[in-house]
Amino acid sequence: MNKMQLIFLSRSENEVFARNVAAAFALPLSPTLSELSDIKTAVSEAVTNAIVHAYSDGEGLITMTCETDENSIHITVSDSGRGIADLEKALTPFYTSLPGEERSGMGFTIMQTFMSDFRVQTKVGEGTTVSMRKRFSAGAQDAQ
Ligand code: ATP
Ligand code: MG
Repeated sequence: MNKMQLIFLSRSENEVFARNVAAAFALPLSPTLSELSDIKTAVSEAVTNAIVHAYSDGEGLITMTCETDENSIHITVSDSGRGIADLEKALTPFYTSLPGEERSGMGFTIMQTFMSDFRVQTKVGEGTTVSMRKRFSAGAQDAQ
């Protein structure tokens, strides 16, 4: 088991930073390139949501935690931003509260598709935490 926590400002350049940190942290578990790419994509989407939606009025802090066991990584991305009033609607594919701003409403759907487990906790005015796990095929073989 290993764990880390990263706190960074909601700036667009930190999206690349955060996704590479998560991928680097997962490396000792020998993920495939495709599994690494899935993690990076999911972290990108979660961090972008915090930047674009949670802190749309300015900058705030985003916390990412990563925790690994023998064959999986658990990642959380949290903000203290506006929160989501209707989570069911927000999770619907192609729903976006920012249509016409090059958003396609697919971020949550991508996270759900690319990760093994996915969960969102949110409270209006308090913030949002996306919690997701990726299980690795190589680690599973080692554990057998
Ligand atoms: P895309 O991700 O395709 O660019 P999107 O960000 O609108 O578009 P999702 O990532 O699926 O689509 O998010 C759906 C909606 O959920 C957003 O439009 C936004 O209203 C809300 N949302 C998502 N994450 C947050 C967050 N961290 N804080 C507040 N609202 C959020
Ligand atoms: Mg999004």
